[in-house]
Amino acid sequence: MTVALSNRSVFITGSDRGIGKAIALAFANAGARVAVHGLVTPDEANAVVREMHDAGSSDARFFGGDLRNANEIDALMEHVFAWAGVDILVNNAGIQRTGPIADMTTDVWNDIIAVNLSAPFQTMRHALPWMAQTGYGRVINIASVHGLVASIHKSPYVAAKFGLVGLSRVAALEYAALGSAESGGITVNCICPGWVDTAIIAPQVAERSKLLDVSSQEALEGLVAEKQPSRRLSSPEEIARLACWLCAPEAHNITGTAIPIDGGWTAQ
Ligand code: NAD
Repeated sequence: MTVALSNRSVFITGSDRGIGKAIALAFANAGARVAVHGLVTPDEANAVVREMHDAGSSDARFFGGDLRNANEIDALMEHVFAWAGVDILVNNAGIQRTGPIADMTTDVWNDIIAVNLSAPFQTMRHALPWMAQTGYGRVINIASVHGLVASIHKSPYVAAKFGLVGLSRVAALEYAALGSAESGGITVNCICPGWVDTAIIAPQVAERSKLLDVSSQEALEGLVAEKQPSRRLSSPEEIARLACWLCAPEAHNITGTAIPIDGGWTAQ
């Protein structure tokens, strides 16, 4: 099913590459105004904006801003609102570092909590009151299976993603009664992917490849097989299609959920 979003403005954090870019392209394809964001050079930003126009976006613009810095997030949100408002907010940007708790530095902890948890709090704080005025709004937080189950050596990442699932539930409850089935209501949900082949997992693949002296492909297959019963990766485009569908008015009663796309990982 294609969701028509030509009258909607969408802001996706971390949409210069990976899952965020696939989500931005899917919204562009549905005709939405797309605010893309990330940490890239002006040339790279222009290239991403061109791709959004080529995909069918009614308008597209790039916004910079380091999500580790709360003041930069305030300025970023002001600029996005001044451009086109935010009917749909996708908190996608995320970072990960792995290692045992004893070796995890305070700086790494702070950065992961800032980007993966505090930034979504800040963007939602700005966007939800705007959505409340119109009776339609969507917040889609890209959490992870690690918002539902733990794995060793991912303490800040798991803490941030569990926090994001909890934060999303609170926001869903606070805004559940606003709007109507016709307006689409205001919903807040998490998507919880298992393994998706993007840059964020490259260090884990490289580490396993070195440790076991196997090819990158074998290392990736091993990582997936360890946790994900389907033994298949998800593509960024599959995550994007669910994100778009959640924006249809008919999804008005799907709120406060954390939807796994994980090949059975969290069913075990
Ligand atoms: P990615 O590394 O390709 O993309 C991360 C994005 O976040 C980039 O656009 C980057 O510019 C942005 N970003 C990082 N630090 C930032 C900062 N300080 N300020 C602003 N932007 C910043 O990774 P991805 O796989 O596309 O990850 C997207 C989301 O999906 C993340 O939240 C990640 O935790 C989640 N996720 C990924 C997987 C997977 O297997 N790839 C699985 C579950 C969840």
